[in-house]
Amino acid sequence: MALGDETVSASREETHAFQADVARLLHMMVHSVYSDRSIFLRELISNAADACEKLRFEGISNAALLPGENGFAIRIEPDAEASTLTISDNGIGMSREEMIKALGTIAHSGTRDFLDRHGNKKSGEETADEAPRDAIDSSLIGQFGVGFYSAFIVADNVDVISRRAGSDEVWKWSSNGGGSYRIEKSGVDMPFSGARIVLHIKSDAKEFLESYRLESIIREHSAAIQVPIDLVEKKDGDTRRIADGAALWSRPKSAITTEEYTEFYRDLARQFDEPALTVHWKAEGRNEYSVLAFIPGSRPLDLFDPARKGRAKLYVKRVLITEDADLLPAWLRFVRIVVDAADVPLNVSRELVQKSPVVAAIKKAVTNRIMQELSHLAKNDAERFADIWKNFGPVIKEGLYEDAERRDQIFEVARFATTKSAEPVRTLKDYIADLKQNQTAIYYIAGDDVGRLNASPQLEGFRARDIEVLILSDPVDAFWTTTALGFEGKPFKSITQSATDLKDIGEKKDEDEKKPENDAQIATLLAFAKQTLNDVAEDVRTSDKLSESPACLVASDKALDRRLERILAEHGRLQDKSKPVLEINPQHELVRKLSQNLQDKRDQTSIEDAIWMLFDEARMIEGETPTDPVAFRQRLFRMMSQSLE
Ligand code: ADP
Repeated sequence: MALGDETVSASREETHAFQADVARLLHMMVHSVYSDRSIFLRELISNAADACEKLRFEGISNAALLPGENGFAIRIEPDAEASTLTISDNGIGMSREEMIKALGTIAHSGTRDFLDRHGNKKSGEETADEAPRDAIDSSLIGQFGVGFYSAFIVADNVDVISRRAGSDEVWKWSSNGGGSYRIEKSGVDMPFSGARIVLHIKSDAKEFLESYRLESIIREHSAAIQVPIDLVEKKDGDTRRIADGAALWSRPKSAITTEEYTEFYRDLARQFDEPALTVHWKAEGRNEYSVLAFIPGSRPLDLFDPARKGRAKLYVKRVLITEDADLLPAWLRFVRIVVDAADVPLNVSRELVQKSPVVAAIKKAVTNRIMQELSHLAKNDAERFADIWKNFGPVIKEGLYEDAERRDQIFEVARFATTKSAEPVRTLKDYIADLKQNQTAIYYIAGDDVGRLNASPQLEGFRARDIEVLILSDPVDAFWTTTALGFEGKPFKSITQSATDLKDIGEKKDEDEKKPENDAQIATLLAFAKQTLNDVAEDVRTSDKLSESPACLVASDKALDRRLERILAEHGRLQDKSKPVLEINPQHELVRKLSQNLQDKRDQTSIEDAIWMLFDEARMIEGETPTDPVAFRQRLFRMMSQSLE
């Protein structure tokens, strides 16, 4: 059957084709090998809990919808005889239309990412028989928000029977994971709203019908869910509560184990590593709220997505308002956080709740606290902090650019790679403490590639004088360095921009070897070079930045830093790139010979060639191409044949 057919059976209204991406996803779910198949249960329990949270919220304006005194609960019911596993909840449920949308039409934003990442072919390019059986890292599924479909990892048929809160119709959705699903009215008696997911377990997945196995999976992965979980033991019909659904954040810290925190983190972050930092506190006083926040142990996949979104849950008195709350600035978006506020007015409009001044005050306080915790860790456990900084430093540094008020706080925790340390462990305070005599600026060089930056000719003079230079290789560095005024009164200065006079700073190690310069000869060379490079260079001047290299490029005083220019140009945000300045090393043998040749009125073409080569070579060391590749190779060949004569 070709995917995308509108209907595939005689009962036209009842059978729908899955939307193409969903069909591809299902195909992959059914035909892949998983590192851990049990994740389907966590995903379905998590959906059931979400459905309960949604009803809890609707209950604010319509208490009649809420379940009776027994409250919300999720039921897990294995039936070995029928080979079914049923996951039921008394949450918000789904209407017919919602089922069609949620379970067949809408390809969640994560679906495409998930498919792309697993290199699946487009639908129609393969049949089930030649399906790929790639191993899939199950822990990734949750991050992509494709949870429901994971049911097909263990089931060959799935039924969803549901009654939407506020309606008395019960609908049944069913599918075998092929290209289509059925939807029909159900005669099942459902006294309350909610959903029952019935999995017809595959013959090779019978382990998921054993209650001890189910219990251990739930204890391992779902114990931190905020809705109680009951396991039905079919043999004697007993129901046992195996997770109490208590909100972890409301319990005293001393009563919570590390494992419980980790489980909670994993459910919140949808990431299956260990949290690098857990912070749990209760604020009392003007506003009362509890906070449970985590810094992940590794980078979330969407860390650098343009949406710059985090994962922040806002509860008001245990009612989930939103999973997407504005509780932290974008530069702390990697922090996974739950806030439960006691004194935000509960309103039926989520937007109004979020706009409450109390929420704004909480955001401020939470940001302060996270920064304090980071700075505390940075001081007291450098090793742990270094891991966090490696993962999230490039994001935190966005704050230097966009959050001027927090800049000093961020500078306090920021760690840098410098000419003194390849690892990003130097603080600005360390830098200032090591300033050389007469040094009035914090020097940096910015670029994409640490290796290339370290090899930059511009660094030579600084190295020779033992002046430390920050090596900035994150994209955001090009931006904050232009807006930050400085640190402890010392401005940031790019060593690839503007003339830097190093003569009076520190002591040059090889000062004794300095050869006398013929100023007049050098001046003639500069004038000649300026003329030669008139169209491409703003200026040509001597520099004491260089020791081994004959030349380098810097931005002119009135231009932007060269790195920033390049980024802006790449994004079409710059009309004309400015012309660089060529700095030459008057001490270098090549430069000496050149000026001598000029003095002796030797062949002018070969002097011009050499000047162009110096200029193009300086571009190339920065990762650019020669100004005019054709002219470049002609010069190169000319020089080669001359030297071979
Ligand atoms: P996600 O949960 O990330 O949105 P899923 O594929 O797990 O993605 O679920 C898709 C949608 O199906 C959910 O967003 C929800 O609208 C609906 N859904 C799934 N399970 C239930 C349930 N037990 N009760 C009500 N709605 C559900």
